[in-house]
Amino acid sequence: MNQVFALENFSRKAFSQASPRRGSMMLSMRDVWRQRLQRAEALAARGDSMSQLLAFYAALLRVQLRLYAHLRASHNGAPSGALEQDLPALGSELRPALLAIAQAAPDALATAGQQLGDAGQAAIEDALLSFWYAPSDRLFYPKALLQPYAQWLAEAGITPRGRELARTDNRCPFCGGVPQLSVLHVADDSPAAGGGRKLQCATCLTEWPFRRVLCAHCGEEDERKLAYFHSAAFDHLRVDACDTCQHYLKSVDLTRLGIAVPLVDEVAGAPLDIWAREHGYTKIELNLVGL
Ligand SMILES: [Zn+2]
Ligand SMILES: [Zn+2]
Repeated sequence: MNQVFALENFSRKAFSQASPRRGSMMLSMRDVWRQRLQRAEALAARGDSMSQLLAFYAALLRVQLRLYAHLRASHNGAPSGALEQDLPALGSELRPALLAIAQAAPDALATAGQQLGDAGQAAIEDALLSFWYAPSDRLFYPKALLQPYAQWLAEAGITPRGRELARTDNRCPFCGGVPQLSVLHVADDSPAAGGGRKLQCATCLTEWPFRRVLCAHCGEEDERKLAYFHSAAFDHLRVDACDTCQHYLKSVDLTRLGIAVPLVDEVAGAPLDIWAREHGYTKIELNLVGL
């Protein structure tokens, strides 16, 4: 896979060297799951080296959209915020959802999904509860199945109960989750500008403001230790890396591509993850395609 992902002219940039851009376009928050799915389908249809990966992500988003629609239509009323109590709202949808994802997944992941599906409803619910109280980006299926639930909670403004995760600036103010990615909303990259950057939670997908020149993992704020890497092949994406903790996350720059859907475009930038890993950086949170 690596040669397909070969990148040239990768350049390291200091924050103060960035060139300002114009043309920011806000994405509508309505129908946001459908928008993600449509973006993944459009990118998969390009027929390039990312197509297979994006076709899988589109299949996954299709299942998540169904779960989300099911939760919204739930006759049990509003969620309680305690996953044990809210699980019945997902109930019979869980196993078919899991198996549908497994069917579209790459081999190793497909096997793991099939095994969890075969273990039955109680085992699936146990896996979801374990993830909920001790999240890990290695727990692929629980994360995939619970994102729609977590976003449902966030939209309903029902704080998750019993999920005692650290509350720090680099954690989601709603659920305590770690960031999946960063989004740039305004063009000015100068440290003085400070704003225009948000982090997006990997669990409930909430966005929250976060300073531009600040490591989202260790809190490093020394400009000399922080840089971003940009390749012309992915003009609206960049790798925000920290030389203090050697962690990174990707940023999606909406001022460069207003039609980008951060969660999906982050996945489509998989070659940047391969590049970052090869250069000794560890991702703060793996995405749902495992990169
Ligand atoms: Zn969150
Ligand atoms: Zn750091």
